Amino acid sequence: MLDVARIRRDFPILQQEVNGHPVAYLDSGASAQSPRQVLEAVRRYYETSHANVHRGVHTLGERATEAYEGARARVAGFIGAGDARGLIFTRGTTEALNLVAYAYGLRRLKPGDAVVTTIMEHHSNLVPWQQIARLTGARLRFIPLRPDGTLDLSDLDRLLQGARVVTLTLASNVLGTINPVAEIARQAHAQGAIVVVDGAQGVPHLKLDVGEWDIDFLAFSGHKLLGPTGIGALWGKPELLEGMDPFQFGGSMIGRVGLHDSTWAEIPARFEAGTPNIAGAVGLAAAVDYLESVGMEAIRSHEEELVDYAWRRLGEIPGLSLHGPRRPRASLISFGLDDLHPHDVATALDSQGIAVRAGHHCAQPLMEWLGCPATSRASFYLYNTLDEVDRLARALIETKEFFRDAAI
Ligand code: PLP
Repeated sequence: MLDVARIRRDFPILQQEVNGHPVAYLDSGASAQSPRQVLEAVRRYYETSHANVHRGVHTLGERATEAYEGARARVAGFIGAGDARGLIFTRGTTEALNLVAYAYGLRRLKPGDAVVTTIMEHHSNLVPWQQIARLTGARLRFIPLRPDGTLDLSDLDRLLQGARVVTLTLASNVLGTINPVAEIARQAHAQGAIVVVDGAQGVPHLKLDVGEWDIDFLAFSGHKLLGPTGIGALWGKPELLEGMDPFQFGGSMIGRVGLHDSTWAEIPARFEAGTPNIAGAVGLAAAVDYLESVGMEAIRSHEEELVDYAWRRLGEIPGLSLHGPRRPRASLISFGLDDLHPHDVATALDSQGIAVRAGHHCAQPLMEWLGCPATSRASFYLYNTLDEVDRLARALIETKEFFRDAAI
């Protein structure tokens, strides 16, 4: 059992009122809040150790490098990666997925090769592959969905024929579906394809081990796991990364530079051109420390309780439709309320201090599958409470009544 009251005291932003109500932050799926331990780690870094990394021979440069490389080892350990050389810091999931698409896909795919993905992908795991397909002549193939929003894997063998890359999300940011990534990886490898996983919605909530799952690449974002914005990571199997050319070029990623040609640094530096987000990496490591000090299993069971309760409470509201599978699900729920526009719903909730997201959630093909242009989405994390779920349910009933009365 989590001591949520104690956890909440670590989050300064949750201590305030919004629109005259205590804030109920139900939008961690977009960006989670940071505990003061993360904020302090970033501040301490700037106050005591800031300088550019890998370059200076002075003391502060060494401290900064130590902090940055220490953060790399810490974040690699969090996802079960024994070899920290496989952990490349990026701006976030989007940049990490573009890195794989361009540094691996663009160089390796040929006309007729298949890239297998799903129709539930966030645009950041779809649009880069569309571009690579266009540039290489490869084709995209999509694993379809069953009516409950889980993947229909009945035809996977056929879809995997000729596949070089299988790329999918661990957890859908709209449906909440958790995909059987390890099982898909087994089948994909049997067909000779590599497996890329978008962990943006999964890594913050699920204890995972890249070695055990035998995936090839994993992308995730710091700001969804209590860390700062502008930092995230791509983890890749070191033996794959070692065989890849860089994605971006410039300082820090070179071996030797001549006027007409250059050689590349070893991994991970090869994929980190330019001055990295050092403070962000330090903050991300502090976020990982915080999550582990609370315990990923304990966080997961707390979120399961919240999401189960929310599913039940919201499901009791007439005219409210819930999207995605009942269980297991990630820590979020997408819903529609009568024929109200999700933006109106989110605005009404905001007037009561409740923050939810509304829109297409960067998943337009999935919206088409759902048959609606947008949904509202409540997403939960370790600091949310059952009381906030009750507030959400009550506010939705009031919103419904308000719009009904307004229509009379
Ligand atoms: N993939 C999924 C499933 C997401 O939910 C998100 C963000 O919402 C992303 C990718 C993109 O993450 P970022 O904007 O941090 O790059």
